[in-house]
Order: sequence, then C-alpha cells, then structure tokens
Amino acid sequence: MRIGIVGAGISGLGTAFWLQQARPDWPLAIFEAAATPGGALHTEVVEGFRFEAGCNGFLTNKPDSLDLVRASGATPLLMESSAAARKRFVYTDALYSLPESPRAFLTTRLLSTAAKLRVAGEFLVRARRDGAEETLEQFGYRRLGREFTDVFLGAMTAGIYGSTPAHLSVAAAFPLIAALEREHGGLFRGMLAKRKREAGPGGVLTSFRGGVSSFIEHLARTLRADWHLGSSIDSIERAGTGYRIHAQGAVTEVDQVVVATPAYAAARQLEALDGELARSLARIDYSPIAVVGFGYRALAAPLDGFGLLTTAAARLPVLGVLWDSSIFPDRAPPGGKILRAMLGGQRNPELARLDRDALIARAREGIQRSMGVDATPDVAYVYSWERGIPNYGPGHLATVAAIDAAVARHPGLALIGNAYHGVAMNDCCRNSRALATRVADGTGASV
Ligand SMILES: Cc1cc2nc3c(=O)[nH]c(=O)nc-3n(C[C@H](O)[C@H](O)[C@H](O)COP(=O)(O)OP(=O)(O)OC[C@H]3O[C@@H](n4cnc5c(N)ncnc54)[C@H](O)[C@@H]3O)c2cc1C
Repeated sequence: MRIGIVGAGISGLGTAFWLQQARPDWPLAIFEAAATPGGALHTEVVEGFRFEAGCNGFLTNKPDSLDLVRASGATPLLMESSAAARKRFVYTDALYSLPESPRAFLTTRLLSTAAKLRVAGEFLVRARRDGAEETLEQFGYRRLGREFTDVFLGAMTAGIYGSTPAHLSVAAAFPLIAALEREHGGLFRGMLAKRKREAGPGGVLTSFRGGVSSFIEHLARTLRADWHLGSSIDSIERAGTGYRIHAQGAVTEVDQVVVATPAYAAARQLEALDGELARSLARIDYSPIAVVGFGYRALAAPLDGFGLLTTAAARLPVLGVLWDSSIFPDRAPPGGKILRAMLGGQRNPELARLDRDALIARAREGIQRSMGVDATPDVAYVYSWERGIPNYGPGHLATVAAIDAAVARHPGLALIGNAYHGVAMNDCCRNSRALATRVADGTGASV
C-alpha cells in the first residue's frame, strides 16, 4: 500500500512516523512545498541567536508530543523551560504579574474588586443548556463578567490563537471550558470536581536543545520515505482506486493520500476532486501574525520571567512579548538575550502585513511602552505569517462536520492539520497518531 503525505508540518510528519511504526512495509512519499520540513516549527539562527518562526515548544500536561519525541528516539533533545521563567505578566495600563494562585488573584491590581466579586459569583450563574453556539466573549461576559473576560481571556486568546474572545467560538476553541459548564453546571464546579480526580501536576513548557528545528530534523531522519521537498502540490485527483498527486508537472500515483497542508491550500488541491469539500475547507479563517525577534549582546534588563501578553485596552502594537532566552537559555549566545514580539492577529490584522522595517519599528515601540526597554537590538529577525493560526470562529464545528462528511465520500483520502481539532503541537501530535492508526487499520479517515 503506497501512501502519499502532502505537507510536512508536524501533523504530516507525525502521521508518517506513526504509520511507519504500524506498517513498516508500506512505502511513503512525502511532498512539502518548502525546502525544509516542519511548517510552523522552524528555527532560524542569526549571528548565534536562535529565533523560532512560530511554535517554541509544548506543554507536558498532555502526553502526545512527548510520546512522539520518545518513540522517535529524540529524548536527549528535550529541554524544559527554566523554572525562573514561570512568572508571566499582563499589560493593561501597566505591567502586572499574572496571579497564579487564588490568594494572588484576590490581591492582584489587574482587576477591580467588583470584577473579582463578579468572578466569584460564577458559582451562582445558571448553566446554559440550549446548545446554542457562543463566542468566548459571550460566554465570558455571561459567566465571569466583562472585566475578567476583557483582561484575562483577552490576553489568553492573543497568546494562544492570536485572536480575541469575540472572534472565537468557545465550543470549538476551548472545548474543555465549554464542557465544564455542560457537564458540571459551571467552571468552578467543574474545576473542583476535576481536581478531585486529576491530582497530576500542571504541564511544563518543554522544547528542544537548539530550537524546535532540531527535533524536526531528527524526526525527518527517522522516516524511510521518498522525499519531495520544494514540491508544491497543485492538485490531487482520483486515479482508479487510488490518487494522482500533481506537482508542477510531475505526477505521482499512490493508493491512499493524507492531506496535511493548511485548509486554504487543501481547498485548492482538492477543488477538482470535490468542489463542495473545497468550499468548506476555504471557509476556515486564519489570523495573520508577524513574529519579530530581537537579539541583544548585552541588555541590562533582567528579563526575569516568561514574558507578557497585552489586552486590547492597552492599545499597544504587540499582542505579547516572549522573553525567549529566559525561557530557554540556549537561544542566545553567552551573555546575550532574546525578545520575540507577536503583532497583528484578529485584534490588529493590518499590523501583521507591514513591511520588515515598519514591523521592527512597531515591535520596538511595543517593547519600549510595555517593558521600558529602549536598547537598540544587535540582531533583528522577522517572519510574517500571512495566515498564521487557524481562527476557530462561530460556525467552525459545523464547517469541520461538513468537511468530515465530504471526506467520507472518498475512500483512501484523509485530512489532518491544525485547522480542524486543535492548534497546539500536542493536538497535532495526538491527531496524527489517531489518524495513522485508522489508516493502518483501514478503519476510515475523518479529520
Ligand atoms: C507564530 C506561531 C506561534 C505558535 N506557538 C505555538 C506554541 O508555542 N506551542 C504550540 O503548541 N503551538 C504553537 N503554534 C501552533 C503550532 O505550531 C501549529 O498549529 C502546528 O505546528 C501546525 O502544524 P501542521 O502540520 O498542522 O501545519 P503546518 O505547520 O502549517 O504544516 C503544513 C505544511 O504544509 C506545507 N504546504 C502548504 N502548501 C503546500 C502545497 N501546496 N504543497 C505541499 N506542501 C504545502 C507547508 O509548507 C507546511 O510545511 C504556533 C503557531 C504560530 C504560527
């Protein structure tokens, strides 16, 4: 059984790895438009500073990334974030520590007393059980109050999705939060009930020595595949019981195909095969995000923490600033420091589309206004994601259900990627393992 995998981000690579474990005798052909695999997992080294273009690690509270790392023999590459970097900050009208305990929440100046009382009142808010889809903002205003939603959920959504509470469906983007209300009647009730069952520790942000690319390079080396790098796939058509994969004139025939490209690319590739499927795929929206990294050979600021997120009310040009070299010290050369700012998202999409010089200027302004750091960086790195992170807005679950139904019409076709069931590296690793199992067993391939 010859399998084609189109797109070599972590979703495609993970699927290839687990499939090879299950069916070592099935030939794999991997097609990737870029010159190197990895997609949103890509490290760039500039004068000794290691900048991540996208993802900088995963949380160990879920086993999925760790399972892939261990099974592929990459355990020696693992690197935990430094304990000193656990402290996080939020910028509203000033920089505040993010409260990490109930006691710190009671005393934080991030929220007014009235807002804290409103959060405590969540216990008394009746559960909504009509199944109607809400945005995270509607859900948050209803259960936790306006101020908490704007500050905490505003900063959190900027950090995870490059989005805002108003642009995200709570059921699609935060299914566990929606389930707390559905299954336990409320968030506090749900968390109390869960704490009794789940005594395990919270996760630790973990990455790889030298940056995420060192894991990708290792994983790619473990795959015995027919590699087609720099090969952008135009279309995928039916050919008898299998598929024909077209790349700029070159054609490859396979028995089954796994499409692991972003939804907008999959839409183009599958247009001729199934127009309805392509239209559903094209409905998945993405947030534009620009990443601006600065390397400093001798920066006086201590950078004691993980970094900061901002709220919309702060009116800063940055969604957040990660203090990368405090989190993973090997990212900067000895004595050096790295800051990495994120700009754009659903909050200010136009910012992500600025040119390099303007992005550097806006990132420096954001860093200066939020952290008071005005030093001229020695090195700058810019990566603009025109379509960075899928935005699971209202209607996302219905769109994914329509994609699922359409894919079921095409035996031997499977779709995977961060566009459907979770954007975190852990989600992609979990879904790729599940898909590989289904392909290996021949038990169908929904997204
Ligand atoms: C700025 C940023 C920061 C992030 N930070 C984190 C984080 O800290 N932690 C975390 O868990 N997650 C993070 N994420 C999310 C996570 O990195 C991604 O969701 C995940 O890596 C997506 O993997 P994927 O394989 O599904 O998609 P992608 O990585 O997008 O891979 C798709 C692949 O398809 C290829 N492709 C596209 N078109 C074609 C074509 N026509 N032919 C062939 N190949 C094609 C692309 O080149 C790419 O390699 C971040 C994402 C971004 C953008």
